[in-house]
Amino acid sequence: MSLSISNEQLKAAAAEFGTPLYVYHAEKITAQYQQLQTAFDGVFARFFYACKALTNISVLTHIHRIGCNIDCSSINEVYLALKAGFSPEQILYTSNGIGFEEITAAVEAGVSVNIDSLSNLEKFGKAYGSRYPVGIRLRPNIMAGGNLKISTGHATSKFGIPLEQLSQILVLKDAYQLRINCLHVHTGSEIKDVAVFIKVADIFFDLVPSFPDLQVLDMGGGFKVPYQDNEKGTDIDLLAKEVAFQLNKFEQAYGKPFQVWFEPGKYLVSECGYFVTTVNVLKETDSVCFAGINSGFNHLIRPMFYDAYHRIRNISNPEGPIKPYAVTGNICETDNFAWDRPINEIREHDLLVFDNAGAYGFEMGSNYNARFLPAQVLFKGGQMHLIRQRDTLEDLLKNQIVIN
Ligand SMILES: *Cc1c(COP(=O)(O)O)cnc(C)c1O
Repeated sequence: MSLSISNEQLKAAAAEFGTPLYVYHAEKITAQYQQLQTAFDGVFARFFYACKALTNISVLTHIHRIGCNIDCSSINEVYLALKAGFSPEQILYTSNGIGFEEITAAVEAGVSVNIDSLSNLEKFGKAYGSRYPVGIRLRPNIMAGGNLKISTGHATSKFGIPLEQLSQILVLKDAYQLRINCLHVHTGSEIKDVAVFIKVADIFFDLVPSFPDLQVLDMGGGFKVPYQDNEKGTDIDLLAKEVAFQLNKFEQAYGKPFQVWFEPGKYLVSECGYFVTTVNVLKETDSVCFAGINSGFNHLIRPMFYDAYHRIRNISNPEGPIKPYAVTGNICETDNFAWDRPINEIREHDLLVFDNAGAYGFEMGSNYNARFLPAQVLFKGGQMHLIRQRDTLEDLLKNQIVIN
């Protein structure tokens, strides 16, 4: 079975469900997961899908069925995960900056909890003491990731408890007899350099003796996937080999085995996704030709928010001569998807497809300009399944209250 969706299949989906449309390939997600499992054969590794990348319930159900675990960044994601069939044992809740009531709710749901501030750790100690195990998210003060906006472990990042506050963590641990069973570090997204993960492992190894209840070393997510032609993602086989080597060496010296957890988001779902749009207008100017599509940063904000590159293909004219275009949205903002991009000649009504649209695409969408969120389709078992209807006007008005 092909792990990509062909132009003809995307055109058929656009004809059936309309555009703008997100289409996801279920078996591609499965293949990515299996690749991780195969690579990490030599260690006790568990993978938790960082579901903030894409939370459609049918996608979560698929990910549960293939045996993957799940990492949640909000209590509502925990509830979605439970709804999708994950057991509490398969759910990890890695919060940041949240009110303590969410942690209480996570404990009541019975899921694993990582805490990322001394303040919430102290509240946890007061509430639960040694009665519930807890993980700690650390800030390793490492700069890593595709750019500053997606770096989360550097020395001015809001995420995690800074390493230099270790003594305060230990004071809380002793005062409340905390059972700290997991150390967690997530340094950011799009980390290609395997050495970053090894640096994190070294930090963990230094800390292990301070935490006698430790069972899990959680290295977070952030594996890079290729977005551009000729670009390389994180070398997963190399990563697995290095982690296994370092871990086995450490375990032998220390005399105790550990589980390694990872939280891949993009790695599992980025490449499975296609965002199909229609060209509304062509606008020729002296400097550039604008191709205005029926979407905007309300549907795919990564190019504007992160300067992220997404491949854009004209599937209606794939053999046409290559010309430069500025691909723009229809939102009243400068929502350029690309400024000067060679694309096969574009005509009005052509379908433009964005690749790598599975992760942080629909999920970061909004109803800005009172526009509808796109429909979503899951391509599974060779068939297109609608998994979310396009918004309607009622959706925009839902929850609003008219007063006289
Ligand atoms: C977002 C996030 C991830 C996933 O990052 P990717 O770049 O999508 O792999 C993993 N862990 C935590 C704690 C996160 O916030």
